[in-house]
Amino acid sequence: MSDKKELFHPSAEVIANATIKDYDSLYQRSIEDREGFWAEQANELEWYEPWDKVLDDSNKPFFKWFSGAKTNIVHNAIDRHLHNATRNKLAIIWESEAGEMCSYSYYALNREVSQMANTLKSMGVKKGDIVTIYMPQIPELVFAMLACAKIGAAHSVVYGGFSYEALAARIADANSHVLITADGGWRRGKPTNLKAIANEAMKRSPTIEVCITVKYNQLDVEMESERDFWYHDLKALPIASPKCETEVLDSEDMLFVLYTSGTTGKPKGMVHTHGGYSVYTATTHRMAFDIKPDDRWWCAADPGWITGHSYIVYAPLINGSTIMMYEGAPNYPYPNRWWQMVEKYGINVMYTSPTAIRGLMRFGDQWPKRHDLSSLRLLGSVGEPINPEAWRWFYDVIGGSRCPIIDTWWQTETGGFMICPLPITPLKPGSATKPFFGNEIGVVDDNGDEVPAGEEGKLVIKNPWPGMARTIMGDDQRYADLYWGDYGDKEYYKAGDSAKVDDDGYIWVIGRMDEVLKVSGYRLGTAEIESALVSHPLVSEAAAIGLPHELKGNAIHTYAILKEGVAGTNELAQELKAHVAAELGRIAQPEDVTFVDALPKTRSGKIMRRVLRARALGQDEGDLSTLEE
Ligand code: ATP
Ligand code: MG
Repeated sequence: MSDKKELFHPSAEVIANATIKDYDSLYQRSIEDREGFWAEQANELEWYEPWDKVLDDSNKPFFKWFSGAKTNIVHNAIDRHLHNATRNKLAIIWESEAGEMCSYSYYALNREVSQMANTLKSMGVKKGDIVTIYMPQIPELVFAMLACAKIGAAHSVVYGGFSYEALAARIADANSHVLITADGGWRRGKPTNLKAIANEAMKRSPTIEVCITVKYNQLDVEMESERDFWYHDLKALPIASPKCETEVLDSEDMLFVLYTSGTTGKPKGMVHTHGGYSVYTATTHRMAFDIKPDDRWWCAADPGWITGHSYIVYAPLINGSTIMMYEGAPNYPYPNRWWQMVEKYGINVMYTSPTAIRGLMRFGDQWPKRHDLSSLRLLGSVGEPINPEAWRWFYDVIGGSRCPIIDTWWQTETGGFMICPLPITPLKPGSATKPFFGNEIGVVDDNGDEVPAGEEGKLVIKNPWPGMARTIMGDDQRYADLYWGDYGDKEYYKAGDSAKVDDDGYIWVIGRMDEVLKVSGYRLGTAEIESALVSHPLVSEAAAIGLPHELKGNAIHTYAILKEGVAGTNELAQELKAHVAAELGRIAQPEDVTFVDALPKTRSGKIMRRVLRARALGQDEGDLSTLEE
């Protein structure tokens, strides 16, 4: 582990521009008076009626935040901006894969969302319903989410790459009567056929009474009379008035259900609510990325994942930022597509994933070097531990060695960032650094006791926080069992990740708890071995798994994707094994290195090691609903 080898200090300019200049004192205050801290943050937002209690912990682990308060996330994301200059600011800039562009001011966003909200109402959607949304990354997807929230319905967004089986299963889970979809989108110049997939799903989904379809890619689609409506037809009717009152809700009313990525098993449907989620996402976004009034913010995820829910849609809108959205593939038609857009739109903050960075790094520096990326002020990463190799490329080549990288550790379950630096934090590539305000994070053994610095243990969160999921939809017991209650009266949230803390208190997430490689009594995280492999100049991606071994208990097996044009020879495999041993010690030397063209990944880009393991052992591969093709 590259503990202290490298420390990247923020420049004098970054420090001068930072709103929060002292992490330690604010952190101390935030954990000494957690409720006071969160009340202060909540007061940055508007509420219809104030809360009785900041934190209600009378029914653990089913915590409630800002209970008694009346709110609606849409009031803070849109309505309150209409009374000041933000009204005329761009809320969304969108570009299609083909290069068409459109934009919406906050004023225009309100009209669009209101029209869709009124349309949904006229279709019988009411408070408490869950509307399923299955769309490409077009502005209407954002309108649909906000429209549901505005009228007090919850949304369940199903990523627009999922199969009809996965969509049908989620519609059934949510008991949805209404589905919002589109004819299709674009991926690498080819049309995708969402409506056809939705039709297949609806054959298996008797609950759906109405399907609203947005016309986007002009694909010929089958429409069933009585059930199917084109959105542009509905929008032209008087029912779709652009004036719609925002429903006054309880802080704890459900905002959405969203499934985890399915990296370690069957996806879990996490429930989030209006009040606490608004406060948590807005505060984390504002502080970690030190959001400035003029920022153009690009979170290059898909709204179908938690990253998109929290940091494409809700947090940036609450903070009045301008959101960049791009529908297509990052390297279409050429590997400079993203950098071209950064230059074209003057993006200030870019937030993406290690998998995307590694993917673009493969094509070499010449692609970003063609563009002026000087508008960038900060970079961000989420989704997996970022290999130091990819970190340095992102930092030097994209950020011009000028922009701190905000590596954010969090989960669908946590709603927002839990561990992350601020712009002023000295950075160590591969570490998400320190807890976000209000959070006490531990790395513990089976008894819940802290392991010594440098040793591997279980990552836990020792306190409730406003953005926490409230439950797994329809399964309170599973929520309580899976995430809480292993450590007796220590009421810790179990993240399911494996981590280390170094001597400086920096937290290193190194893998999943059930993928820890136990070799001859040592415990290694998959990220450590994978990062060592990727640090070899010929390797672009790697995965490590443990397989049973007679003597060692477990043996490390690895898979590597080589850089473009490099041949995978026996000699290279030997060299890579020796390279890992040299980086991490002999104990970590892999048994073998298998060269592959691709690794099994979730559609959010995470390596599915359980699939590699199952294949190697000839076992059942388990739930593959989120596997990328
Ligand atoms: P499932 O829970 O269904 O197996 P998942 O855990 O991948 O899927 P998400 O909620 O999308 O579902 O991802 C959260 C996980 O992603 C974290 O538990 C962690 O393992 C990983 N992760 C996210 N951000 C980071 C980061 N910055 N550094 C290291 N790991 C990260
Ligand atoms: Mg998870």
